[in-house]
Amino acid sequence: MNGTRITSKPEPNGHSNGHSNGDTGVPLDHDMHNGWGTIYSCSGFNKDERTRRIWEDYTVSPARVEGQYHKLLSDYTTQFASFFGGYWPITFHAHVSDVLIPTTVASLILNTASTCPLVVEDPALSPLLKDDPEPEKVHQFVRKLLGWTDLHITTPRLAIVEGIYGCAFGPLAHSSPEWEYRIIGAGPSSFSITRDDFASEDTLLHKLHAAKAQGCVAVVCDLVNASDGSIFPPEFFRMLRNCCDKAQIFLLVDEAMTAIRCGAPWVCQRPEYSDDGHLQPDLISFGKGMAVSGIAINFNGLMIRRLAYQRRDQILQTIRFWRSMVTRPIALPVLIEALGILNVAEKEDWPARSEKIGRAFREFINRRVGGIGQGKEIVRGLGAFIAVDREISKQFRVMAAFRRCSSWARWLPKLNSPAAVDSEAIERCLLGPDAKSLRQALANEAEAQGTTPLWCFVCGIDAIVDDWCRTCFLGYCGTADCKKGFNAHECL
Ligand SMILES: [Zn+2]
Ligand SMILES: [Zn+2]
Repeated sequence: MNGTRITSKPEPNGHSNGHSNGDTGVPLDHDMHNGWGTIYSCSGFNKDERTRRIWEDYTVSPARVEGQYHKLLSDYTTQFASFFGGYWPITFHAHVSDVLIPTTVASLILNTASTCPLVVEDPALSPLLKDDPEPEKVHQFVRKLLGWTDLHITTPRLAIVEGIYGCAFGPLAHSSPEWEYRIIGAGPSSFSITRDDFASEDTLLHKLHAAKAQGCVAVVCDLVNASDGSIFPPEFFRMLRNCCDKAQIFLLVDEAMTAIRCGAPWVCQRPEYSDDGHLQPDLISFGKGMAVSGIAINFNGLMIRRLAYQRRDQILQTIRFWRSMVTRPIALPVLIEALGILNVAEKEDWPARSEKIGRAFREFINRRVGGIGQGKEIVRGLGAFIAVDREISKQFRVMAAFRRCSSWARWLPKLNSPAAVDSEAIERCLLGPDAKSLRQALANEAEAQGTTPLWCFVCGIDAIVDDWCRTCFLGYCGTADCKKGFNAHECL
């Protein structure tokens, strides 16, 4: 992944292209793919002096930085909770598909419940306060507290709200819209909640009671569909929170794609989704641009608050218990990077910026497409998660991220490009007078480094061919279909 990051843009001190301002590379490049949204910024965490220094230090003296591991992990944990308004990162994983595994979610909930103040501060229960720990007693107490049966413990399931993309493997892959994922789905399938179930609160509640009775430990939803950019209606989200509360089932929002990029730290914190601030989700899964994937816990969540966490030391204690199960919760270089990204996101206020970027891009696209899109929806998504009609996206000659079956192209611009907040500047850089020279600079850079444009212009997977366009800096993946699409492009 690091290799792709390097080749996607000119190095800050690399070949001069006449546009580089030394800080952020080009003002705006046409890479709207950005590693499926894993790249928030073309300067990484350069702008964060502290982590940049730690990183440099690590390359010369890893042992010295190893000595700071606990401090760095603790700083990351508290800064994360502060940036994301009280959601504490607890468990870390390599990919978000590793996170949304029912047994992992169930174990995490059991850990949070078994180490909650109702247990550890009760002399009759607490393994910390008793000489003769009675784990069976704690277990019974926790099951009662959560309303769980043997089913939740032995074969936990997740209930998923239709539309959520699903995972690349494991139980959630059963419900993927892409057959390549479906055929490797394994484990008990998810319990499906459809749009029809939102017909009324009674209908939904009935469904959630059934989900819980069948062993579901949490409901998983996303608010912007990762495949086509459609929006989960805020009134549905409100209904879902109410019903999860009544059915006593945890609510997990998958923010792998939407964190930071959609006008708020979490998209579920946007005003339309958090209007009353009353019932909040319990868990958030994150990943992609954050450098590390995982789950964050909201101790004010609709279910978690029943566990009575009040103080910071209680929260830090349960986090410590969970992390002590593994040898090392997060690898040191990943931790440094994750901390750096978080710091820059805060300093440069990426959530607010992403809203401005989304507005500017939508203005630009609507202006360019003009009459063509009339009567037809051409742009979806929220903030800097921009879904563009696949056919229309082509005319912009940008690299976008596609789902194979989807008729939408996803534009995931970098959040720090100076031009990205101004629709006129976007036009100038992507199609206007600056476009050619900007792309020329990228092409020269690639030629010098022996690389190619990263993403197939037509389908969005890795571009590997050598006959890429030196004028537009566009390539393709090598299939006959994409070759045809590529050859049909009109040069800038
Ligand atoms: Zn292709
Ligand atoms: Zn061309």
